[in-house]
Amino acid sequence: MGFLAGFRVTLKEFLSGKTITTMYPQEKREKPTRFHGRHVLNRYEDGMEKCIGCELCAGVCPARCIYVRGADNPTDAPVSPGERFGFVYEINYLRCIHCDLCVEACPTEAITESKLFEFSFTNRQDAIYTRDELLVGDDGHPQRLPWEDWREGDDRHTSGWVRATAPAGSSAFEGRQLWSGELGYGVRAAEQGQTAPAPEPEPEAAPADDHDHHDDHGGGH
Ligand code: SF4
Ligand code: SF4
Repeated sequence: MGFLAGFRVTLKEFLSGKTITTMYPQEKREKPTRFHGRHVLNRYEDGMEKCIGCELCAGVCPARCIYVRGADNPTDAPVSPGERFGFVYEINYLRCIHCDLCVEACPTEAITESKLFEFSFTNRQDAIYTRDELLVGDDGHPQRLPWEDWREGDDRHTSGWVRATAPAGSSAFEGRQLWSGELGYGVRAAEQGQTAPAPEPEPEAAPADDHDHHDDHGGGH
């Protein structure tokens, strides 16, 4: 009789009219705030690059797909505020698993991820993004490469999820951010994470008859 019970569940869900799947690519679901997509290399509000070429991102990458070489900043035209800058920076998207460990390791918030995941290549060279391609443009927005399909909002909140994290993931740091400003965006608001206020409750319909109304909640409202 077990299979009959199973069919009952299937039939119940079928008749409920609920739709779980969407007609991708015509319909696209809203991406979560912490979605990990194509990386960007960020710049400060004055246009200076945030990357200091420290190679921590390359060291932590489990897929070994980042290649960085730092160089001393030219004294007459420094690229970053530090002593050094990311002279060569490459990410191989044939290997990246979008774990975001590079983002967590970066001490200057230079590398973060956008929401873009719809990009494909016809040759291996295009899959290896260079510093020039990853660097945000003069408006602070990611560059749009010919093989990328950017959608509304994909370039927003490129570093949103990281600001809600803290050493050891302590919830005491949620809603606090110490991030520097980003070209084109300024200092972004901290993501609220789990402490975000709950959505407004639906207004309750007035009870037809008060006789049977009991407050069973232990919360003592
Ligand atoms: S997201 Fe993960 S796999 Fe991809 S480059 Fe960063 S550390 Fe490497
Ligand atoms: S992106 Fe960040 S971690 Fe990687 S080399 Fe640049 S400053 Fe260092």
